[in-house]
Amino acid sequence: MEMEHYTMKDFGNVSKIDVHAHINTETTWMIDEARANNFRLMVMAVDVVPDYPPIPEQLRVRIKHHLEHPDIVIFSTAFTLDGWDDPDWSDKVIKKLGEDFENGAVGVKVWKNIGMEAKDANGNLIMLDDPKFDDIFRFLKDQNKVLISHAGEPKNCWLPLEQMTVKNDRDYFGKHPEYHMYLHPEFPSYEQQMEARDKMLDKNPSLTFIGAHLASLEWSVEKIAKFLDRYPNASVDLAERISHLQYQTQSDHQKVRNFFMDYQDRILYGTDFQQLEDTDPITLIKNMNERWMLEWKYFNTDEKISVPELDLPVRGLALPKNVVDKIYRLNAEKIFPNAWKDDKDES
Ligand SMILES: [Zn+2]
Repeated sequence: MEMEHYTMKDFGNVSKIDVHAHINTETTWMIDEARANNFRLMVMAVDVVPDYPPIPEQLRVRIKHHLEHPDIVIFSTAFTLDGWDDPDWSDKVIKKLGEDFENGAVGVKVWKNIGMEAKDANGNLIMLDDPKFDDIFRFLKDQNKVLISHAGEPKNCWLPLEQMTVKNDRDYFGKHPEYHMYLHPEFPSYEQQMEARDKMLDKNPSLTFIGAHLASLEWSVEKIAKFLDRYPNASVDLAERISHLQYQTQSDHQKVRNFFMDYQDRILYGTDFQQLEDTDPITLIKNMNERWMLEWKYFNTDEKISVPELDLPVRGLALPKNVVDKIYRLNAEKIFPNAWKDDKDES
């Protein structure tokens, strides 16, 4: 039987979810553009100091957008590591997270500052499997909330710039030498970062988990597959790492396509679009549309596509409609059930 595929024209008509977006201002440019293109958003708070506002301010903006656009915006919260060495640190975090959940947060995001930046009073890096997190992650499980984790970085981060496989990593680490681990051999290795995350998951096997950015295993679909096999309550989002899959598609199209077919229930579409204090709306909207269309083409057609992150073109995966629907919507709806207010509920 011939499998059915979406065309480029279908993009606007198909209901879609982006599980990885950031909005730090009260303006609604991203929300309006999402609505116009049949997208719903999961907007994440992140403990990024000082590039993002303090977490309470991030929350204020996210709650406002959620209340004003409940059919488009849901949000996750984050917690600060300030006061880490105080004996009641985790109690305070749990209390605060409880309030955030009351206000509508559906999950909590932990970021790469854990493992790469934050230190305890003895000067040791705080790692994700630290026992101090145990009560917090248990609390999330009890509350039926989702843990979203950006752990470590793409493997490219541990390579010199000229050996990185995709241009977007070369650009980012060129601009952020503080996070370019090749320059900081005294920091934990890529493998140690992954191990800390996995040890945390071993302690919390029933926690609903999203490995943001393909769980930082972007360089190998085999590794992502193994990770998903080992942790049945984990999913991965595609945000900012589709180029890494396209890089692998160039050398083995069938392998990457098989990965999407085999793990069609575990993969979530996400972009990492950011609307920050200094974001220009025209540029943001242009970037959103360009990215959406390039990625839609890659997943739905078998055309040869030129993408900005790679020198050579990549052939699209031509995934069947039902798989695209899962990656672009149904898997997210399963993880965040009834989180977005249905238009039809409007009274
Ligand atoms: Zn992000």
